[in-house]
Amino acid sequence: MKNVISVRDLEDMVRRGADLSALPAEAILTPSARDYLHELEANGGRKAAVKPAAASGAAASAKPQPPAKPLSSKSPKAELEVFFQSAYALDLKQQICEMGRRLWQRAYVDGNGGNMAIKVGDDIAICTPTLVSKGSLKPEDMCLVDFDSNQLLGTKKRTSEILMHLQIMQQQPKAIATCHCHPPYATGFAVAGIVPPTCMLPEYEVFCAVAVAPYRTPGTPEMGKLVADLVDKHNTILMANHGVVTWSHNGIEEAYWRMEIIEAYCRTLMVTAQLGVTPNTFTPDQLKDLLKIKQSRGYVDPRYGLKECELCDNDEWRPGVTCQAPAKTETAVGLNPEAEAAVQAITDQILAKLK
Ligand SMILES: [Zn+2]
Repeated sequence: MKNVISVRDLEDMVRRGADLSALPAEAILTPSARDYLHELEANGGRKAAVKPAAASGAAASAKPQPPAKPLSSKSPKAELEVFFQSAYALDLKQQICEMGRRLWQRAYVDGNGGNMAIKVGDDIAICTPTLVSKGSLKPEDMCLVDFDSNQLLGTKKRTSEILMHLQIMQQQPKAIATCHCHPPYATGFAVAGIVPPTCMLPEYEVFCAVAVAPYRTPGTPEMGKLVADLVDKHNTILMANHGVVTWSHNGIEEAYWRMEIIEAYCRTLMVTAQLGVTPNTFTPDQLKDLLKIKQSRGYVDPRYGLKECELCDNDEWRPGVTCQAPAKTETAVGLNPEAEAAVQAITDQILAKLK
């Protein structure tokens, strides 16, 4: 498929500091994109940009590389400063800003809610600041922290929820990026304390492995620990009465994708439940195929190696019949007349014997 490049794509590339001469040879430029490139040339800013596409053909990527020697919280401050201002760090910061915009546009965050982090050394991470909407993040807002949540660099104060991200990274060495927000449908499941039922949609099976962590006050070590306890075999944690946190071994965009996938899944489940029929689910063989794909991508899942009959065990959730839940409560408090009569009869018998 041919790649059509618009002026907005080019502007984005310039913003990200990408090399315009690395545009794919087969790329088609829209007329305004071509004008934009000519303008850049006229300004003398990006001479290389003008003979990108068709002419150069070289697809050499200008992707910034991480430092040759891994950094840590023990690295000299000057080294950390150089790193924090490097093209590589800038690229990561811009990725966080972009994911923040997507979170905000999709209404997965509210107020200054939501936060993200990317591991950039043995025990250090770049993270979002506190009290800034994820819709208006700028690269210069980002912070550098160590794994004890001490702020090492950055002018804005780090997010108050950073500890949870760091605890996930410490517990799960594969977790190099973490994303937390409050998407309404998935958060609804978190408030209800319900793990969404499985075996209904492929993307969810492949990308997400979900568990619910009990509620604790946000930002406390206790809360982070309860989440981190689950990340060995789960990459998407519903935080009871709070929101969702995801992690990825590939990068912040994938952690963000998990957010989109679980939110779309929970929304779809709500529609399915309203249709009033028992949903069709995957057969064990169909699920096994998906789990094979999942494993080949290096994603965690607690179901690897389970017996067939255990693969689609959704006992915790019965779509369409959740309205029966209050009936149980009624029975328990004695509002069911039949149960009440039975209890009364037994009580009467016991009392009669005692006389
Ligand atoms: Zn939160």
